[in-house]
Amino acid sequence: MRKSVCIIGAGLSGLVCGMRLSRAGFDVQIIEELSYPGGLLASSRIGKEYLELLPHHLRKTDRALLSLTRDLGIYEDITWFDSFWHGLASRKKLGYFTNGFSDLINRLMQEIIDNGGTICYSTTVAEISSNGTPDNKYCTSCVLSNSSRVDFTSDYVIFTGSCRSFVNSSYGLPISINTKDQLMNITYRAEFCLLMVLKSKSSDVYFQKINDGNPFSRIVNHSNSFGLRSYGGNIVYLVGDCSISDPLWVEDDSKIKDIYFAAYKKLFPRITKSDIKAWRLTKIRYAVSERFPETDLTEPAPNVFICSSALVSTNTSSLPENRMDGVVSLANRICEKILSNTNQSEENENDEDQ
Ligand SMILES: Cc1cc2nc3c(=O)[nH]c(=O)nc-3n(C[C@H](O)[C@H](O)[C@H](O)COP(=O)(O)OP(=O)(O)OC[C@H]3O[C@@H](n4cnc5c(N)ncnc54)[C@H](O)[C@@H]3O)c2cc1C
Repeated sequence: MRKSVCIIGAGLSGLVCGMRLSRAGFDVQIIEELSYPGGLLASSRIGKEYLELLPHHLRKTDRALLSLTRDLGIYEDITWFDSFWHGLASRKKLGYFTNGFSDLINRLMQEIIDNGGTICYSTTVAEISSNGTPDNKYCTSCVLSNSSRVDFTSDYVIFTGSCRSFVNSSYGLPISINTKDQLMNITYRAEFCLLMVLKSKSSDVYFQKINDGNPFSRIVNHSNSFGLRSYGGNIVYLVGDCSISDPLWVEDDSKIKDIYFAAYKKLFPRITKSDIKAWRLTKIRYAVSERFPETDLTEPAPNVFICSSALVSTNTSSLPENRMDGVVSLANRICEKILSNTNQSEENENDEDQ
């Protein structure tokens, strides 16, 4: 019988899992709490282009990610640019898609939908539990934007949100206290990212790390490496850490923008407020995990998986960021495990029939 999987999150991890399992004939249901796909890799229309709300690029060492782009037929849409980075990294090339990362997200979604999968937006997972029947199915209970509830039953569950959110929604699962503790101990750093479209450029580099004492810790001059395209100006991202207990976290976007811009102006005094053609602030609650667990926590209960960059063993505090590759590798590994579990259970069923 056709196996089913409920995937929580329509970011890169969830969509890669959805693509692989829908291709393998699974009944795929993706649940996303936001009203759009992409997660941290989401794009918005800027000028006549789609652009990521957070700065992203590819690197030649992103093996799993590049292999995914070949598989989806979009590898040829990547151009490799000089990085204009400081220091040793300046020799490395940075990759970017002709139409931005929205191409990658759209291609993944198209495959899932073509293979019969569905994606539900504005739907938040509240609880995952065993449904108590002998067929060992799981029930994922969700809350819709109009506060009504809906349940999805599936053979497998893949959770791609933060490890903390997973624990908070998995009281109904047979998970040991020790595993829950380890997942809860994975703390996350929150970040702000101010995306600005500026009339002129302030520097020639792509990436600049900023010393302590500034509200943001890095500047990414997207257009310096990837060109002006049809954005209508130079694209600059200012990315900074923030604690969610800091009163700034709940401030409105324009106030945070003003604080960030004032600090930017101190660094580049020739820039004035009238140089800003457009801006967009993104608050990222779970930007980077700060601690990597000692044990493998990717399958906390039988056939329930966590596919999260927090469980990928990279030095997440290191810059430049290069985490999508690890996320795609983990998604591939989880899907292989699900396919092998499915083959095993089908073999067992056949043995019982004979
Ligand atoms: C500022 C910044 C810059 C970065 N730049 C790079 C880069 O240049 N190169 C690189 O390799 N990596 C980069 N990264 C990392 C990269 O963005 C992530 O590794 C990748 O996008 C993670 O994808 P994901 O699907 O695992 O998680 P996410 O993108 O976080 O997706 C998880 C999804 O699950 C949804 N969700 C969570 N909980 C629930 C729930 N209870 N119910 C329903 N839905 C839920 C969320 O809304 C979200 O859409 C960057 C990250 C940041 C913050």
